[in-house]
Amino acid sequence: MIENGWNQFEIGSVLRPFSGEVSDVSVIQPEDRLYSASNSFSVSVADWRIEKPLFKKELCIDCQFCWIYCPDMSIISRDKKMIGVDYDHCKGCGICVQVCPTTPKALLMFPEQADEEIELAQWPKKETQETKEN
Ligand code: SF4
Ligand code: SF4
Repeated sequence: MIENGWNQFEIGSVLRPFSGEVSDVSVIQPEDRLYSASNSFSVSVADWRIEKPLFKKELCIDCQFCWIYCPDMSIISRDKKMIGVDYDHCKGCGICVQVCPTTPKALLMFPEQADEEIELAQWPKKETQETKEN
């Protein structure tokens, strides 16, 4: 089978997102769906990202704002629990960080090359009554 690149399709082409019959895709987790070869879910489309959001689980209140507002469906949430970021598709727009309501935020933007372990260790600390008084 010859596969076309994204700029080789005829104007007006219809690209099927899934292979075969899809009855109710909403009840199937994204990683278990039968994507077609032309579906961008199957490839990394975030190579040009220059900043990435990192996630500090301990600060998250599972409000799901990041999941609702992400324009790329790149927030991974299961059973209404935020579990991480899909870095194959996240474009680094920073909207998830903007809408995260916690103080400090459970999501922050960092340069693409930043070391996750180091940044998580240096994350701003939550203020307590004790730290406020000192
Ligand atoms: S940075 Fe933008 S694309 Fe990436 S997870 Fe956040 S809202 Fe989604
Ligand atoms: S917006 Fe922030 S607090 Fe809410 S689910 Fe996302 S990471 Fe957690």
